[in-house]
Amino acid sequence: MKKLFKIIVASIFLFSSSNLFAQDTIAKLLNLEEDQYFADRDSAYLDPYYGLKKLIYGNKRFAENKSINPRQTDADLKNNELGQKPFATIIGCADSRVPNEIIFDQGVGDLFITRTAGQVMAEASYGTIEYATEVLNTHLIVVLGHESCGAVQAAMKLPENPPGHVVTLINSIKPASLKAKSANLPEDESLNLAVKENVLEQVELLRELEPVLSRGFESGRILIVGAVYNLHTGKVEFLEETITSLPKFKNSK
Ligand SMILES: [Zn+2]
Repeated sequence: MKKLFKIIVASIFLFSSSNLFAQDTIAKLLNLEEDQYFADRDSAYLDPYYGLKKLIYGNKRFAENKSINPRQTDADLKNNELGQKPFATIIGCADSRVPNEIIFDQGVGDLFITRTAGQVMAEASYGTIEYATEVLNTHLIVVLGHESCGAVQAAMKLPENPPGHVVTLINSIKPASLKAKSANLPEDESLNLAVKENVLEQVELLRELEPVLSRGFESGRILIVGAVYNLHTGKVEFLEETITSLPKFKNSK
């Protein structure tokens, strides 16, 4: 029993420290500064690597209770008729506990968002994302999963006859849930792994989506990355493998 306890403690330590290493690697690649909390709005729109920094700093403010709620006054809401220049597209889960502008501490006009359960995408989502990259010139795309995702949880149960259109969600998340199941982990770790695998698959899907996104990603004009939001800590952790595989960093590792 003691041995089992030791193994569990060791694996939790390994998991959290490897997670810390991952965040260190990302911080180094993106030149994040420890005492920095802000990134310029215009630079974030022009340069998606800088946009990533802006999201990370914004989430740091939120997680540390230092949110500034930028661009959220009545005037900010009402004086937008001339157009929009969102610096990031977020593909997130419909879950009511993951309000994108709040967790990234951004304001009106900053984020172009499409949300469905388990951030499962279909034709209309692809068109929405392509519209952002082609018409609005938004260069950064973030697939945002989250801890305790009900859609992923449902897919883990592999129900035989899910009701109505829920079957679309289950089928789409199924490969990630099967992969997580095959790792034979305790239930909550298995769900965390499925959440992560689901995001990785969705990032890959978008990077290969012909013709707009695949070309945009290959040329380096569009960045597509994945992240997972932790409901408990409020932290968004970007997935290391989706950052190190970006064109700018591919050869630096
Ligand atoms: Zn969810």
